[in-house]
Amino acid sequence: MSHDPNCLFCKIIQGQIPSKKVYEDDDILAFHDIHPWAPVHFLLIPKRHITSMAELQPSDAAVMGQMAVLVPRLMKELGVTNGFRTVINTGADGGQEVFHLHMHAIGGPRPWLKG
Ligand code: AMP
Ligand code: ZN
Repeated sequence: MSHDPNCLFCKIIQGQIPSKKVYEDDDILAFHDIHPWAPVHFLLIPKRHITSMAELQPSDAAVMGQMAVLVPRLMKELGVTNGFRTVINTGADGGQEVFHLHMHAIGGPRPWLKG
């Protein structure tokens, strides 16, 4: 698995920085966002370091599909029953702050801080 030693989320994958884990398998990690916008807010990331959605290759289709399919399952497990939002910020103008591709999964009863 290729990691970037300077990448925050690669450090989380490797356990060098703690996280509150929601789900993990060989290819994907999901963990709670440290600054949640809503009662439930977690991030799904591929374990392979991919900088952003702009860098995706055809060979990444499976892991992106697996992440999407996981969201409703994990939301249900976390008790979210009334809808949720998924967001992928890409690049500086897309609002991306951490340059390891991640999908925000946001839900729970409103009001939310944003989104
Ligand atoms: P983005 O703006 O899409 O790049 O979002 C990055 C997200 O990562 C933000 O919502 C941050 O709150 C979140 N974040 C940053 N550091 C951590 C961390 N150590 N653990 C969990 N989430 C983090
Ligand atoms: Zn990374």
